Amino acid sequence: MTPDTSIYIHVPFCVHRCAYCDFNTYAGQEDLIPSYVNALIREIEYVRRQLSNLPAFNVPTVFFGGGTPSLLSGSQLVSIMDALRAAFAFPPNLEATIEANPGTTSLEFLHQIREAGINRISFGVQSANPEELHMLERAHDFFDVIRSIQWARQAGFDNLSLDLIYGLPEQTLASWKSTIQRIVDLHPEHISAYALTLEHGTPFGRWSQRGLLPLPDPDLAADMYEFAEEFLAANGYVHYEISNWALNVQRLTFNVQSKFACKHNLQYWRSLPYLGLGAGAHGYADGYRYSNFLRIKTYIERLANYQSPITNYQFPLTPATVNHHEQTLRDDMSEYMLNNLRLLIDGVSESDFKSRFGHDLMEVYPKEIEELLRFGLLERVIVEDATHFTFYVLRLTPSARLLANQVFMRFVD
Ligand code: SF4
Repeated sequence: MTPDTSIYIHVPFCVHRCAYCDFNTYAGQEDLIPSYVNALIREIEYVRRQLSNLPAFNVPTVFFGGGTPSLLSGSQLVSIMDALRAAFAFPPNLEATIEANPGTTSLEFLHQIREAGINRISFGVQSANPEELHMLERAHDFFDVIRSIQWARQAGFDNLSLDLIYGLPEQTLASWKSTIQRIVDLHPEHISAYALTLEHGTPFGRWSQRGLLPLPDPDLAADMYEFAEEFLAANGYVHYEISNWALNVQRLTFNVQSKFACKHNLQYWRSLPYLGLGAGAHGYADGYRYSNFLRIKTYIERLANYQSPITNYQFPLTPATVNHHEQTLRDDMSEYMLNNLRLLIDGVSESDFKSRFGHDLMEVYPKEIEELLRFGLLERVIVEDATHFTFYVLRLTPSARLLANQVFMRFVD
């Protein structure tokens, strides 16, 4: 049986390119949006035709990421959702998320996309501090955040996520505390907090190399993370993934179950399949990891001009695919460890590993696991699922959360 397969749709347009951003996104190309939406619909239809010869699968989640997907009009998003609905089987509890920048979503737009079935919004708030927002070159202020949330609630959204960045140049612990406090006061169902990373090729990366960017020292960034853990826990948010918190997560039960944990990202963290549609999108399905052409114009041309018969591209590849790689068993096992160890409650289930790969986890990675247990970076605990089946899971210990990359490296071949 084909497993449930999620769908990621990339929208690579931004009004302005922020100085720290290395996503595949472009400013000043908004005139291409109508042709891009047509190309996306062609890619969806291409996959639908491929699937007519294959077993059907359920699509539990759709995620519009970017870029700034909220730059598309309500009617453009409705037409993409209609094309998806015609091509794939959506369950009644579909989670459909759109990323949006505060201040870019009118009440009318929000009503329109809610009616089209989009039921979750992830707002890129980043900070509540005006100087920090200015330094990040964000186009919104905190008033835009408050108003966007009010309108989203009015339009019927009961599942909102707010994204934050910490470890910013010249950021103090007091400023971070104030941001988190103001975010919690807005009662979002979900909060993400990522440390700023200086990416090669971005203005921030170049300024930092020249010593022009006074970043907080790593100890201060660690204090910020630890404050977020304590403060969010005290306010009812469960830390279910290294950088993510949600309300109403059932603790101590294997398999995070919450209306508000991000189901789409859980699909990635559980190493489950997803299709990537749009310029620069990545996908993982049917034994392949693959990615699409990065440039918007190339993506549009590839979808507009293909002449070859449908059989030339085997699912999940399409005329937009530029790279693909057939996964080996070893690739899948290694990525499974890296992804699932991000889940702080679920961790890596030894029984799931065995049923996915046919091998015992402790036989595949005996030395790595033994060392990480000995150093106190992993813990091995017995858990019980809803059917009272008990099994071992491996999880990061609380002290390993800030060293997670070092743990992950042990599982990379
Ligand atoms: S809005 Fe987001 S995607 Fe667009 S440039 Fe800024 S950080 Fe990058």
